[in-house]
Amino acid sequence: MNTLINKLKTIFGYVSFRPNQEDIIQNIIKGRDVFAVMPTGGGKSLCYQLPTKVLDGTVIVISPLISLMKDQVDTAKENGLTASFLNSSLSKDESRNVYNSISGGSLELLYIAPERFIMGHFIDYLKTIKIALFAIDEAHCISQWGHDFRPDYLELSNIRTIFPLIPIAAFTATATPKVSQDIVTRLNLKDPFIIRASFDRPNLFYRVEEKTNENVQILEFLEKHAGNQGIIYTTTRDSVDKITANLCAGGIKALPYHAGLSQDERRNNQEAFNKDEVNVIVATIAFGMGIDKSNIRFVLHVSIPKSMEGYYQETGRAGRDGEPSECLLLFGRGDINKIKYFIDQMQDEQEKDQAYKKLYKMVDYAAYNVCRRKAILAYFDEEYQHETCNACDICQGDRVRVDITIDAQKIMSAISRTEQRFGINHIIDIMVGARTKRIIELKHDTIKTYGIGKDNGKIHWRNILNELLSQGFISLEDDKYPVLKLSPSGKEVLFKSKKVYGLLSPETKAERLGQHKKITITGDFGSYDTALFQRLREVRATIAKRQNVPPFIIFSDKTLHEMCIKYPSNLSELKEISGVGDMKLERYGFAFLVEIKEYLFDNPHIIKGR
Ligand code: ADP
Ligand code: ZN
Repeated sequence: MNTLINKLKTIFGYVSFRPNQEDIIQNIIKGRDVFAVMPTGGGKSLCYQLPTKVLDGTVIVISPLISLMKDQVDTAKENGLTASFLNSSLSKDESRNVYNSISGGSLELLYIAPERFIMGHFIDYLKTIKIALFAIDEAHCISQWGHDFRPDYLELSNIRTIFPLIPIAAFTATATPKVSQDIVTRLNLKDPFIIRASFDRPNLFYRVEEKTNENVQILEFLEKHAGNQGIIYTTTRDSVDKITANLCAGGIKALPYHAGLSQDERRNNQEAFNKDEVNVIVATIAFGMGIDKSNIRFVLHVSIPKSMEGYYQETGRAGRDGEPSECLLLFGRGDINKIKYFIDQMQDEQEKDQAYKKLYKMVDYAAYNVCRRKAILAYFDEEYQHETCNACDICQGDRVRVDITIDAQKIMSAISRTEQRFGINHIIDIMVGARTKRIIELKHDTIKTYGIGKDNGKIHWRNILNELLSQGFISLEDDKYPVLKLSPSGKEVLFKSKKVYGLLSPETKAERLGQHKKITITGDFGSYDTALFQRLREVRATIAKRQNVPPFIIFSDKTLHEMCIKYPSNLSELKEISGVGDMKLERYGFAFLVEIKEYLFDNPHIIKGR
């Protein structure tokens, strides 16, 4: 079996398989059907690309994302595979060339869009060639239960009947157990080898910051990531344009992306980003489906997304190459109401209800001081196996741990004295002694705890409630008008003086900035030679331009980073670097070695190996 590892190294330049890749590949080679749910960046494409070097015939890859096909084919070709695609963007002549190479038996990989399967003559054609495997990408599109159902995908149900002897491997990054079952049934998979990988993205650092001054916070964040590529998500077109203008005024190369732009403008802006010509794309959620750029180093949400699904997917676009990348969410309570406003426009009551529930889960994520990774995985029903993740703001200790027992007792007493029949805002109003109409009508200004917390302000009490909610001392009924209730453990705090600890964020701006400076991101940020990295990036950009492909296809950031740690000085040292396969070594090795040599010459104080 060592031959698979050898192929991994010589073709792709990688030294080890990512989780599950080897099992999947072995099963594909054995001719067994496969169904795999793996997160973005998990390395799905390698699972069907590597077998082309073992199997006889062409691997047909079915993918709905026509805009990605060219990049995928270019990536495969750069690694020395013979690959092509057939879709509506090709001219007659181009298509004919592709058909010729398939018939000649020389094509290892063919990418097609699902709608080809409606064309009888195409099926007849496929019957005349040797097919090794059908690989179905984005397989969740076949399920009506999924979030991205595409009617074209239903045609794929026929593959098994038309080609009963050819194995099928289906891949997706998102599928609930129900959707998974549906995919297996619809594709008619026979005793498939099933993989459901962890949804954890260990190289992503998650952080939530209270929104105090959006513009300043954006600039601070970008300063930390100067020179790197990333996405800023916001909700409206208007704010996309404003943020873009602000960044450009600050000398940062940024472009907008939203539904108000023409198709051409959108395509051009995406291209420019893909090719590293600009560093930042400022976008509404419309951006992302057709992108598999591997060197996205950060994703910044300037306002809270509608759901955890959306948040996971959008942040998931960072760090596909496995290198450390940061996801920051700026959390302002005012933004919640903007989303509620949209939800309230919905006609269907059930849909509205669902949307509210999803929004509340998202707010919990932002507001609770629980390990972000744990929270994300828990949302997808996965239990995180470690105590701390060391790659989120909470685990890294951005907040201070303090005894909050007294405050907890005060606010729980207010909840208890009003018979556990009121929601968050009303309870906080009681604490700070607000004179609202409701308080006066209900005579809540006469209870003992009224105004007991007026020295602290509303935000403080909101934070205390968040702590108690996230630690389960109180609960909030999942309803449109949720009320606060004491749990059994909460009663122990109130009546038996059980201790409560909370993590509070430093409150003043000065403190916040102080904290900011102190933080260095865990992982490998900055532990490579950044000056050399800039120079190698230039080399990469020049080659990419000549080949007319995005730079990350030439070498990933991860590969360049490793060069900037090891300073390889000859071809055999370069070959040891992850991501340098035989083909790339031969084609580009020299250009990079020359640059490294010159750099070391310019910087004689750098001694290799230290
Ligand atoms: P997915 O389709 O699952 O989102 P990709 O197939 O695009 O992921 O792979 C993401 C990145 O990881 C690509 O740059 C790919 O070359 C890289 N990759 C895949 N397998 C490995 C591996 N075994 N070792 C290192 N990098 C890998
Ligand atoms: Zn954590």
